[in-house]
Amino acid sequence: MTGKVTLVGAGPGDPGLLTVKGRRALEQADVVVYDRLVGPAVRALIPDSAKAIDVGKEASRHLIPQDQINEILLREAREGHNVVRLKGGDPFVFGRGGEELEALARGGIAFEVVPGVTSAIAAAAYGGIPVTHREHSSSFHIITGRARRGMDPNINYKALVEGGGTLVFLMSVSAAPKIVQGLSDAGMPFDTPAAMVENGTLPTQRRCDASLGTLLEKAGEMAIRSPALLIVGEVCALGPLLCWFDRLPLHGKRILVTRPKNRAGTLSDRLRDLGADVWEFPCIETVPIEPCLPMEAALRDVGRYAWLAFTSPTGVEIFWKCLRGMGKDARALNGVRLAAIGSATAKALEHCGLSADLVPEIYDAAHLGAALAERSDGKVLLLRAEEGSAALTEQLERKKIAFDDIHIYRTRCGGPQADELKNALAERRLDYVTFTSASTVKGFIAAAGPGASGITGLCIGEQTAAEAKKHQIPVKIAKHATIDALVELAAELSRQEE
Ligand code: SAH
Repeated sequence: MTGKVTLVGAGPGDPGLLTVKGRRALEQADVVVYDRLVGPAVRALIPDSAKAIDVGKEASRHLIPQDQINEILLREAREGHNVVRLKGGDPFVFGRGGEELEALARGGIAFEVVPGVTSAIAAAAYGGIPVTHREHSSSFHIITGRARRGMDPNINYKALVEGGGTLVFLMSVSAAPKIVQGLSDAGMPFDTPAAMVENGTLPTQRRCDASLGTLLEKAGEMAIRSPALLIVGEVCALGPLLCWFDRLPLHGKRILVTRPKNRAGTLSDRLRDLGADVWEFPCIETVPIEPCLPMEAALRDVGRYAWLAFTSPTGVEIFWKCLRGMGKDARALNGVRLAAIGSATAKALEHCGLSADLVPEIYDAAHLGAALAERSDGKVLLLRAEEGSAALTEQLERKKIAFDDIHIYRTRCGGPQADELKNALAERRLDYVTFTSASTVKGFIAAAGPGASGITGLCIGEQTAAEAKKHQIPVKIAKHATIDALVELAAELSRQEE
């Protein structure tokens, strides 16, 4: 059966600006064909199971010519794949989306379009520049600074100047001198406010405030590079007042997130929302121990335990899968009380329709052990990682509480980009690294090697911090062992450093 192509706008770079429908299309893709302007954080959303084809185009020379891109789309669809064609911004705003669809239409391939958030509006907005404003501008125009095959575009500067609206030039960095000349020749005053926004919506965004007369000099001083917008019009004067993005608490901070890939999402998103430049480097991988005969044996007669205790959401997920796989459900736990090390683990239990009877005040192994030891009137079943902390079992042993400590998963050091990480650390390109467990510290050290101490470790709790200190990493510890508190710690630290 022939597949289809979905043309998806990836937005200008901030992954939060990918549409809900676009994200859904990505998740279902067998093949993703993407361009250079698709931001790295959006690319990270391409599922591992999909074949990703980079047809990234350079400014004036095309890595892969357009007709070959069309061929790739036709070929992949004809092979029956569900293809997503992912383009920066909106696919029809100087994105050649129309040309690609024509080729598909002629080839008899079914297609759909998911529009995207265009950089022409969004990069301006992140620079504090509203493209229209009742007092300043009642229209806006999106113009390309470059035409086919590097020729000069035929721009009617006179009409643009007479129109009086906001002018947004794309692909305009090298064409800026000609654009300024064209506008002033057509009668635009030199004191008209103008701006450039480079890497809009990305953590590396920079804005250059100027007027038509000073733009070239100021952009030159700042060495503004592509991709950037050149914006001309009164609304540009609002930039310094409305530039909310530059003022976010983690703006300019480069933070390494070491969680396993499937758990990185929320932490990374929260840090990005505060303006951080997040680099996801999964230092560990969690691997279920399968089959896990001791867990199966324990669950077959789980009623003989007084407590069932979990130390991570991963543990809950693996337990639940095993229980369901044995043809049982929540009723099997009748009478067994449940303990969770912290709020995220308790939430994972909620997902299975189970509520935790015990969550210690301080979310760590020692406090979970102490709380269990205090309450337990029977045997405890611990389902946790192979390298789980001894602090938990020590507490139980001290009070002579019987327990079974069953290892249901192990963590493995991962990180295919270890060289990149070492370079980034050596060049001090990173400000903080987040550690959400002692095993993420171990994974980080395994990947990063001896350069690892030049970065501040933001730790979720005492035990994680103790592991980091062993490796001479300067640490700061979150007030509570939650992702929220870890994000708050980063923001707090960043404020202090200002
Ligand atoms: N379809 C895209 C535009 C493609 S043309 C869209 O709708 O955004 C490429 C030009 O878009 C670049 O030369 C630059 O002018 C602009 N551009 C794309 N992403 C940008 C970003 N993050 N910040 C500023 N300009 C950007």
